[in-house]
Amino acid sequence: MNTVADVVVCGAGIVGSAAAYHLAVRQRVGRVIIVDEREPLTLTSDKGTHGYRNWWPGPDDTMLRFVSRSIDLLEESARECGNAFRMNRRGYLFATADAEELERMRARATQVSAVGMGLLREHTDFATYEPHPAEGFEDQPAGADLLIGEAARRAFPYLVDRTAGALHIRRAGTLNGVDLGALFLKQAIANGATFVRDRVVGFEISNGAMRGVRLASGDVIDTPRIVLAAGPAVHEVGEMLGVSIPVSHELHAKLTLRDTARAVPRDAPFVIWNDPLTIDGRALPGGAHLRPVDLTRGDELYLIWTYETDTRPYEWPPRFAAHHAEILVRGCAAMIPAMQQYVGGGARGLLDGGFYCKTRENRPLIGRLDVDGAFICAALSGFGIMSAHAAGELVSLHVAERALPDYAAAFAPQRYDDASYVARITAWGAGAGQL
Ligand SMILES: Cc1cc2nc3c(=O)[nH]c(=O)nc-3n(C[C@H](O)[C@H](O)[C@H](O)COP(=O)(O)OP(=O)(O)OC[C@H]3O[C@@H](n4cnc5c(N)ncnc54)[C@H](O)[C@@H]3O)c2cc1C
Repeated sequence: MNTVADVVVCGAGIVGSAAAYHLAVRQRVGRVIIVDEREPLTLTSDKGTHGYRNWWPGPDDTMLRFVSRSIDLLEESARECGNAFRMNRRGYLFATADAEELERMRARATQVSAVGMGLLREHTDFATYEPHPAEGFEDQPAGADLLIGEAARRAFPYLVDRTAGALHIRRAGTLNGVDLGALFLKQAIANGATFVRDRVVGFEISNGAMRGVRLASGDVIDTPRIVLAAGPAVHEVGEMLGVSIPVSHELHAKLTLRDTARAVPRDAPFVIWNDPLTIDGRALPGGAHLRPVDLTRGDELYLIWTYETDTRPYEWPPRFAAHHAEILVRGCAAMIPAMQQYVGGGARGLLDGGFYCKTRENRPLIGRLDVDGAFICAALSGFGIMSAHAAGELVSLHVAERALPDYAAAFAPQRYDDASYVARITAWGAGAGQL
């Protein structure tokens, strides 16, 4: 059967859903068809920790501006829907027991503050610090608070006693990414978009221009435009187009653990331990983190710590090392001693996760591809939930041929054609912007 679309979005993760929303609702593109072989939002977008932050240390302010735009849009959407996706402003809290790391945190925060994060406030006295609310996002301070010594331990008494200081990023928090994605899809569909459950298996291209999308069912959608939003499988869809998509993959696991003993206050921010840890004689890098999440029991925590960041081929379902859950619990117990009671019980939690799909400098791919009518919105790495709104907006502006924001060129696939850009990013590394 042949159907006709003005644009097809391949992939109904958070990114494809946001793209469909922007195309159908904000750009008023007529016939938008979203194709996914799975139920929407069930590959990577429901596996993350769903945090957001305007914290982007270097190498320049590009990612900070892009994600800040996304947070503006998230707040706008939250206001429109009565905060149906429960966006809060609890912040990201980076803690350390190391005086030298505290100095590095101060230097990084000063730099990010200078490029637009907002003011950095320093507290040696707890009384000058404004605590965060449990819910809501309005009327909150931006920037960051650096709490030194006793001020940090009083503000966050669950942190280990040897905590030397903590940096609280304030335009940050968590939200429910699945509810956000559902809202995008609902609004897109209410504005004429349709969802088709099928697998994209090929394209019809003539004279270098997009003509149609072939589906596994045998159906064909005649369309002059396609948006590739296939998440970690985007390179496979790119191959069908004859275009090489420059991405690699990193496996990230998260543990959902019931905190039946209330080791962590339910209104805690996203708490991150910056210091390296030694677990079972093995030296692991800093970055263990945890946050409360209200799932079916209302007492769950998400724990995450990617101590191995090697590139590995995308496969589904992903496979995780059996001991990973236990290492996560031990890492988090080093920063929050009350978590110690769960050591040995990590296997009782649910370990899942997915693949970060990344470019070499960890910036997304959003823009035109070399086939006329083909666009990409992918490689959202570990920031796809927080930046999907701005990513969907940007690709929709490309499709609708509207004026583009000034960060557009930084995400265009053609940036790698510029030898001076490639020379510059070689120094940055793929870890740029990753917690
Ligand atoms: C453990 C973990 C923690 C994370 N934490 C955060 C966080 O705190 N904050 C944050 O912002 N981000 C976080 N992320 C990253 C975020 O989850 C991703 O960037 C985001 O979900 C990617 O969305 P996507 O729509 O690009 O991909 P996906 O959600 O993977 O969606 C891609 C879709 O494309 C479909 N598809 C693929 N190929 C085809 C085909 N041929 N035909 C039809 N359909 C196809 C798939 O079925 C899938 O539904 C985390 C990720 C992980 C794994």
